[in-house]
Amino acid sequence: MSNQNPVFIPGPTNIPERLRHAMNVPTFDHRAPDFVDLLDPLLSDLKTVFKTETSHVVTFPASGTGGWEAAITNTLSPGDRVLVARYGMFSHRWIDLCERHGLDVEVIERPWGEGAPADLFAERLAADGDHAIKAVLVTHNETATGVVSDIAAVRRAMDASGHPAMLYADCVSSLASMDFRMDEWGVDLAVSGSQKGFMLATGMAVVGVSEKAVAAMDSAACPRCFFDFRDMMGANAKGGYPYTPPVQLLHGLRASLDMLLEEGLEAVFARHARIAGGVRAAVDAWGLTLCAKSPDLYSDTVSAIYVPEGFDSDALTERAFGDYGVSFGVGLGEMAGKAFRIGHLGSLTDVMALSGLAAIEMAMKDEGYPIALGSGVAAAQEHYRATRARPDMKEAA
Ligand SMILES: *Cc1c(COP(=O)(O)O)cnc(C)c1O
Repeated sequence: MSNQNPVFIPGPTNIPERLRHAMNVPTFDHRAPDFVDLLDPLLSDLKTVFKTETSHVVTFPASGTGGWEAAITNTLSPGDRVLVARYGMFSHRWIDLCERHGLDVEVIERPWGEGAPADLFAERLAADGDHAIKAVLVTHNETATGVVSDIAAVRRAMDASGHPAMLYADCVSSLASMDFRMDEWGVDLAVSGSQKGFMLATGMAVVGVSEKAVAAMDSAACPRCFFDFRDMMGANAKGGYPYTPPVQLLHGLRASLDMLLEEGLEAVFARHARIAGGVRAAVDAWGLTLCAKSPDLYSDTVSAIYVPEGFDSDALTERAFGDYGVSFGVGLGEMAGKAFRIGHLGSLTDVMALSGLAAIEMAMKDEGYPIALGSGVAAAQEHYRATRARPDMKEAA
């Protein structure tokens, strides 16, 4: 297995050289007076990434799942009703987490490959006259199926029914790779982590918290200690942390935000859209099908691809790893064995994406798939040629 190869799993993502160096710092004192010089600009630049001016951002030593737990326990009480649709492994795990915290979880079952059903949420909220539903939970980018959901539409549905429930968004695999607008979409809790769009090592949960969510902390009765927003926000306001922060990750985050803001968020999103377009062109050329049911649901950070009838997607990803040293995402949950995933988020270029497509093509050929070597690569190449930044350099086709 060559560790020179990029990974094509949808997190953890490739860590650019610059960020690896940035995390290589000696121990420093998080109670020293200059810690605030690192922390304050970080929290403020994170707000830029969440596209929020009115919310707070907090970071915890945890993975994204810890961010979920923080969002739930700080703002809700056991027995509170929450509304959520299950359409993939990650929305499923939100449901499980809420149930284990004793919430009353109302689940709308949707086929995997579809997104958050704004219309069904609207129906349920309109019928909830006494406002028993305290929160609506949406997985913005369902990493298991490669589906992006329309959060603005969910917000419109909530507003149209005049319902006061809070809106929680899992943006772990979208933030800093695809557009996410906390203020404009009226998101109250936005949960992310360090190892996807931020291109860092795993170990930090990043959570956006609206003023409405802050107000909900007072009555929220779920037990919490390590993840208590009050301790974190209180310590942050004084330039510190309530316990030892992951200082190397914070230095990495500084460099990550610098990279993202230097490239420009909109340019980062455009890069992901262009790379994803090439991957989808390859899928099409192979004659395979995406799990995402329609183009408006296509994720720009991950593509989940059904293998043909009679083939085992686990054998394919094992072949790619074993024979070519390249990791792809396996099918999760009910997609196990039926689909594989190409992660195309974080630190990635068109040229890197082509190498991944070439590698999985070889593995497909080895496994006897009815595809021609080079077919997907060529389709992606055409897409990248047609959408390159310097069309003035275009030669005769
Ligand atoms: C990766 C991911 C998470 C969090 O997973 P962790 O392993 O806890 O970081 C949550 N939701 C989605 C959509 C994800 O892609």
